[in-house]
Amino acid sequence: MELDRPARPLLTYGTYPALAFVTAAALWSAVRWNLDRNAVIGVLTAVTIVTVFTVERVNPLHDRWSMTRASFLGRDLPFIGLAVVVEQLATAGVSLVAASTMPQNGFGPLARTPLPAQAVFALVALDLLWYGYHRAAHTISRLWRVHGLHHAPSQLYVMMHQVFHPFDLLVSRFVISLIVFKSSGISPDAAFIAISVLGLQQTVSHVNSDLRVGKLNYVLIGTETHRYHHAAHERGNYGSVVAIWDIMFGTFVYEPRRIPGAFGLENPDSFPDPRRFHAALAWPFRRATA
Ligand SMILES: [Zn+2]
Ligand SMILES: [Zn+2]
Repeated sequence: MELDRPARPLLTYGTYPALAFVTAAALWSAVRWNLDRNAVIGVLTAVTIVTVFTVERVNPLHDRWSMTRASFLGRDLPFIGLAVVVEQLATAGVSLVAASTMPQNGFGPLARTPLPAQAVFALVALDLLWYGYHRAAHTISRLWRVHGLHHAPSQLYVMMHQVFHPFDLLVSRFVISLIVFKSSGISPDAAFIAISVLGLQQTVSHVNSDLRVGKLNYVLIGTETHRYHHAAHERGNYGSVVAIWDIMFGTFVYEPRRIPGAFGLENPDSFPDPRRFHAALAWPFRRATA
């Protein structure tokens, strides 16, 4: 399918820059005025979700990919609730370990570079580890039983950015974060910036609206590029924040204006119906019969 000229150009070209500006201003203020970092992340998350949720209601890319009352209440909500709990626990765990083992100003050569450089390094390193895990999760059948849950819905909308098996969240929010933050020597403020940018990209990556960022697609994974990753009959773009690893390893997909015809699993019968919460959670632990 090809996209035409945008029906609402201001939303198409203005939403992401506006969110990026608000995020940058909030991060700068938090560091400059020493605001409570957790409160800033909470407010930023709420502002981002409310903004893109409103944009996708006003200007949906495709009605059949929109959230419905049934899809939200009957499928997504338990996973979102569980994701919030797991993410809070994982973040608290990382913070605890970091607070007890990471010096306030970091350590090693990276800690002597400017804060934005440390944050960029953290994002690139986080995404390299996620890229490796994510490709493995699409290849190794036992891991696919975990990760396939994120691909099971045949829609793509903002609230789906939290529909994950908790194992995926523990890998991304706890294991990978801990490895990068503890071993790189970056300061806690750089980690705070990296986590905020990661949150923004993961949220905008699932928006069912015609958002466009042009050449920035070759730098950051977002709405236009993550869409291909959810396509039913193609795969690519395994990164969640930066495009560099997909470009380097030959899995980058971006054809301006082309959008996939269908989302979800190539073979939906191969996976439990994600509306069956317990069955989907238990699926990785069930004995393989084939
Ligand atoms: Zn995936
Ligand atoms: Zn996704």
